[in-house]
Amino acid sequence: MAKPETAGGAPFLERVAALPSSEAARQAFTRYVQPSSLPREVPLQGALYRALADHLLRWYGLPATPAAAAWEWAPLYRLEREIDPHYFGPREIAERLGQCPPLPPDTRAELADILTRYFQWRQGGLEQLGAQPLVNHDAAERWQRLFPPRFAWRCLDVLKAVGFYPAGSAGGYRAQQRFERGVFEPAWSATGWREWIELCEAPSGAAGGGAHGWDFVAGAFAGEWTALGVEGPCGPEPLCDRCPLAADCAWARGKERPVRSVAEAAARLRMSGPGGLDEGTLLHALFGLDPAQAAAWRERLERTGLRALAGRSLPELEAWLKGGDPGAERLSALLELAKRLADERMLPGETFRGARDVFNHFRMRLRDSKQEQFLLIMLDSRRRFQGEVEVSKGTMERALVHPRDVFTVPIREQASAVVVVHNHPSGDPSPSPEDINLTQQLVKIGELVGIPVIDHVVIGDERFVSMAERGLLNFP
Ligand code: SF4
Repeated sequence: MAKPETAGGAPFLERVAALPSSEAARQAFTRYVQPSSLPREVPLQGALYRALADHLLRWYGLPATPAAAAWEWAPLYRLEREIDPHYFGPREIAERLGQCPPLPPDTRAELADILTRYFQWRQGGLEQLGAQPLVNHDAAERWQRLFPPRFAWRCLDVLKAVGFYPAGSAGGYRAQQRFERGVFEPAWSATGWREWIELCEAPSGAAGGGAHGWDFVAGAFAGEWTALGVEGPCGPEPLCDRCPLAADCAWARGKERPVRSVAEAAARLRMSGPGGLDEGTLLHALFGLDPAQAAAWRERLERTGLRALAGRSLPELEAWLKGGDPGAERLSALLELAKRLADERMLPGETFRGARDVFNHFRMRLRDSKQEQFLLIMLDSRRRFQGEVEVSKGTMERALVHPRDVFTVPIREQASAVVVVHNHPSGDPSPSPEDINLTQQLVKIGELVGIPVIDHVVIGDERFVSMAERGLLNFP
């Protein structure tokens, strides 16, 4: 294959053509565009319309199963056999579409316009597409004009579905945009398509198919022809770590640039590993944010830091997200999962070794709590962890604790001993006189009910105090 003259000296097609895998792509292209692959004219009319209906349902997010085609959307599929384009216009087609499942008025009107233009176009005969599988660019452009501009690329898939090949590999174009411009997802405009076609205009007979050949080879690089046995790394989720062009790819090199889509965040994650991503990108990989939301999240994170989010209630997270953004619930669930991952909780049957075990067990949960919480752990006769109980949750200053609430569950569960624990939201774990009084009361009651209180651990900000270790449980 001769080397193409690339636009603005841009080397993408040249670089792709030089890859060893491109030879397999060229061979696949030659096989793929055999003229004998085209069906005969009459069946093709029906096949083309069916492919059009299938794709329209898909583009508009409507069910496109065979059952749907046979039943709910039958009026759409029958239209081709029943319509007389001389007497039917968009209004009549819209009425027929009214027999299908309900559609928003705008969608129905747009579909009716597309179908009207299609039936008018079809009167010109399928020879407009040429007798060869390769559709020339003018014919492809006429086909594109049947559709709204946003479908400029997608509408070519309808022709490919029945054996024609118009140049316009979306994957190849996307790969070129990534490689040369650092754009992860290009705008799928008709202008972009024309630019791509110009880029693919090879000097002479590439792969026997000119621009079509280059387009096919670039598509193969983008993983579009795996069904024909040609692998390529630059698909919707690019495998940059395995891509032979990664060192020179503008997108792969621009790691410091903020990501603008979930797919891009996912691709970065695969390329760099999660440890190589900033917090904004990690959050982006989890949440479907649009670019404006992502920028707002990033800016707020830079101001508050991720740690400041821990311990926030759902309404507080909603306020942080400024209400309009999605994901307060997901963010809350994520923070909870992170907290549990970092937890070093004791498991039932595990031997209790001392106050540090209690601190580790509750640390993550109590670290960012703005309320005082009073809890306990129950131990069995061999000082093994039996379970935990939340006794009370209080105000900013105090958890209100009644001794009865402390012993109810341990008596029922036949615990042999308990360790009580509470947190100081101020961060200072020094026991207050009230803490010491309460502990002494609990120790006395524990002796009476036969469930000794063997320690009271106070947890502050990454610190704790064991009242047993300080001798505060020994009193006259
Ligand atoms: S490095 Fe990644 S984005 Fe760039 S061309 Fe290769 S697969 Fe595509």
